Amino acid sequence: MSDREALTGWGHTAPSVAQVAEPAEPADLPGLLRAAPQRGVIARGLGRSYNNAAQNGGGLVIRTTRMNRILDIDADRGLVTCEAGVSLEQLMTTMLPLGWFVPVSPGTRQVTVGGAIAADVHGKNHHVAGSFAVHVPAFDLLTSGGQVRHVTPGSDPDLFWATAGGMGLTGIILRATVAMKQVPTSRVRVDTVRTADIDETMAYLSDTDSAYDYTVAWSDCLARGGSLGRSVITSGSFAALDDLPAKDRGDRYAFRPGALAAAPPVFPTGLVNRRTVALLNEAWYRKAPKRRIGEIQTIGAFFHPLDGIRNWNRVYGPAGFLQYQYVMPFGQEDAVRRSFERISQAAAPSFVTVLKRFGQADPGLLSFPMPGWTLALDFPARTPGLAGLLDWLDALVLDAGGRVYLAKDSRVPAGVLARMYPRLEEFRKVCAQIDPDRMFISDLARRLAL
Ligand SMILES: Cc1cc2nc3c(=O)[nH]c(=O)nc-3n(C[C@H](O)[C@H](O)[C@H](O)COP(=O)(O)OP(=O)(O)OC[C@H]3O[C@@H](n4cnc5c(N)ncnc54)[C@H](O)[C@@H]3O)c2cc1C
Repeated sequence: MSDREALTGWGHTAPSVAQVAEPAEPADLPGLLRAAPQRGVIARGLGRSYNNAAQNGGGLVIRTTRMNRILDIDADRGLVTCEAGVSLEQLMTTMLPLGWFVPVSPGTRQVTVGGAIAADVHGKNHHVAGSFAVHVPAFDLLTSGGQVRHVTPGSDPDLFWATAGGMGLTGIILRATVAMKQVPTSRVRVDTVRTADIDETMAYLSDTDSAYDYTVAWSDCLARGGSLGRSVITSGSFAALDDLPAKDRGDRYAFRPGALAAAPPVFPTGLVNRRTVALLNEAWYRKAPKRRIGEIQTIGAFFHPLDGIRNWNRVYGPAGFLQYQYVMPFGQEDAVRRSFERISQAAAPSFVTVLKRFGQADPGLLSFPMPGWTLALDFPARTPGLAGLLDWLDALVLDAGGRVYLAKDSRVPAGVLARMYPRLEEFRKVCAQIDPDRMFISDLARRLAL
């Protein structure tokens, strides 16, 4: 029925061995649940969480990626109903020719619809569009008793908002309807600006919030002194047909995800270090234009630059890497500044360092976004002094009324997490009702007592 497999998240840390089942038919799932081992069950999509959210050492992991059929399309209203193992890339390939794009896209399109709901993912448009679950009018959830519940925010708000952001702990999402975003073309009209320091970066992001649908700042986390927090900010909205060069207008919805180049299987440990990241950051910053307006970019280049190289995470070597992402409320700009100061003082090398502003939160009990500043960083796991730096950041974030992201975190203590998520107790109550014997459990949930 299933094979034993060692699994990790995208960060390649904390491996654990589980039985892994990969059913092609949702009808096979109740049988798998009935035969579930004592250590319980968790769903897994494309394994793009950085941590062990989709792992269950000693238990069963159900990979959903073969349950990937598009079930219904309403091309007039932009509604698509699909199995939960459908990837966002599949949604794009299917819906773009009809003029519809995913409502929210994380920095990779290699995530499943189930994973996008379970982590209630956000994109560069959170300030105008909120998180993924806001665009999901309904899903079907297989619960521990083997029943399938049709859940909408109106019919069952508690279960809906415990599942959205609930990291797979309420059951297995089988199918979902997604309300897509209508777009005039498949290209993005992008403005790029280079800022000199953190104050200019935050001021620019605040001033231009309403001018673009999508915005993000890539920041140089190693820059110091007068250059602290210098950034390259890219902002854009979908291009109108007239914005495209004449030669591209005949194929306004062109989208070619294409074959990905693979990273070599083995990289030496220590390739990503203070020196190499400082050089890369410098080069990245210098090569960006001081100001460039109206550049036309593809969806891949604008939304998913890292998807261009398959398994780019191998560059961190066998020890892997940690992603740390916080959000701190507006009004805490000084704390954001201090986080940059401390990271650059510690010379902790993160090449992918991304700052952006979140808009309104949704009612997800464990959803990550809140109105405020979010910063995401990738650190090689073996960075000297990393544990102390991240503990210090936890304290700063907690004190500022912020939180870290459950799809990324791999080390925050359970007590700290509980203080960051004030609705955790409500979440636990919904889980206790829907899954009294606690069948759905992951390595992450065990560590954090979710
Ligand atoms: C390069 C990169 C960039 C990223 N950028 C962003 C970003 O910008 N914004 C953002 O929000 N996230 C981002 N992420 C994180 C990613 O979007 C989330 O971790 C997402 O949940 C991954 O989806 P997945 O299908 O790979 O799920 P997995 O990683 O396999 O699982 C994630 C969680 O979803 C649960 N789950 C999966 N399928 C189901 C199902 N059918 N039913 C119930 N639960 C399920 C799992 O149990 C687990 O708890 C990024 C990740 C990478 C690697």
